[in-house]
Amino acid sequence: MGTPAKTLPKKGLPREEVLARMETARSGDAKWREGRTWSLVYFGGPEITALLKEAYTRFFSENALNPMAFPSLKRFEAEVVAMTAALLGGDDRTVGNMTSGGSESIMMAVKTARDWARAERPEITEPEMVLPETAHPAFLKAAHYFGVKAVRTPVTCDWRADPEAMRRAVTRSTILLVGSAPAYPQGTVDPIPEIAALAAERGVLCHVDSCLGGFILPFVRRLGYRVPDFDLSVPGVTSISADVHKYGFAAKGASVILYRDTGLRRHQYFTFADWCGGLYASPTMTGTRPGGAIAAAWAVMNHLGEEGYLELARISMETARRLIDGIEAIPELRVMGRPDMTVFAFTSDEIDVYTLAEVMEKKGWHMDRQQLPPSLHMMVTPAHAGVADRFLGDLEEAVREVAALGPDHQPEGMAAIYGGMAKMPDRGLVRDFLAEVMDDWTRVE
Ligand SMILES: *Cc1c(COP(=O)(O)O)cnc(C)c1O
Repeated sequence: MGTPAKTLPKKGLPREEVLARMETARSGDAKWREGRTWSLVYFGGPEITALLKEAYTRFFSENALNPMAFPSLKRFEAEVVAMTAALLGGDDRTVGNMTSGGSESIMMAVKTARDWARAERPEITEPEMVLPETAHPAFLKAAHYFGVKAVRTPVTCDWRADPEAMRRAVTRSTILLVGSAPAYPQGTVDPIPEIAALAAERGVLCHVDSCLGGFILPFVRRLGYRVPDFDLSVPGVTSISADVHKYGFAAKGASVILYRDTGLRRHQYFTFADWCGGLYASPTMTGTRPGGAIAAAWAVMNHLGEEGYLELARISMETARRLIDGIEAIPELRVMGRPDMTVFAFTSDEIDVYTLAEVMEKKGWHMDRQQLPPSLHMMVTPAHAGVADRFLGDLEEAVREVAALGPDHQPEGMAAIYGGMAKMPDRGLVRDFLAEVMDDWTRVE
């Protein structure tokens, strides 16, 4: 790699040298192409990736900040939104936008709810939203950014939102109820009809976070699996988010936020009419919007079509079921709740799963640790079809190794850090630790 760069090189490096250094830099990266990771990359196969790259680079310089300048991007975005609405129970009143990802879509839903409440419920001075504790941190981030109080409610023993607990948490200041389809940690779909009915009864908004499931649950259902109702067709649901860059298999930077109608979406917009730089209108959080991400999303949706998505969903579901059955067959391990699709978590009452993750990492698997309680997380894609049996074999072996360490074994490495953090009563110390970790992310070394 050479010495770390802290200033611009005086003389620019030749193209070949730049690219060679980048290849060296990635040598330690997670091996997602070989199916060794269970998060972060949704790999639909080399053919899809090639199309994404082609579509992305063709619109690589274009900017959807001003769609008037690029009718192509305006059309792609409108069609991606319309196709997504058709998949997720929308009707001819449904409207939406593309955003850079699930977090931005969720932030828009919360900001929209806040501004809707300012207009429609002016008596509310300190708005609150009620969400199950399994809901994604993007909602807490939105709460933090937009000054909405987040009220988190416990989930039932099968890891689904408890509508009764949510009912008890609703106050006169509540503006928004949240459900996930599915929630990331255990892959379970919340009882959306009950949550949405409660929202309708109280005259407040209801957002469904289908960032993870939006582009696979409709196909899982068509394959004949039982999928609980979760989308815009459920009475009371007022907005839904779905990430094309997850199970839509698009390039990163592509999500969709949909609203019941245009009146509600108006509260999402930002405009500034008094700038000498011109009239400024921005529907979402970002200013400049990469044309490539929009173009690639349009390309993959049109290329795969219903049949393509059905096939990818079939492979992912069959692989996930194989993994779930295999894990359940290992006596020390147990899958949490009843996952509704291709995402799930497993835990153990007998062995330390953080140590299990360490052992699996030595065998070349990148593992994702969860807490409250300690568990390991799996997100299954078609890239895993060919490695599921090897994973199960390695897992079985790793469980034996960890069991042989005995109950007095002191965890090491990440297992010690995770174990320590999970048990630390002072969460302020954990937050300080996380801030230090982030400081390190931008330290040149
Ligand atoms: C991934 C995810 C998000 C956040 O999306 P990003 O694209 O990472 O910003 C929100 N909710 C759920 C359920 C998710 O899985």
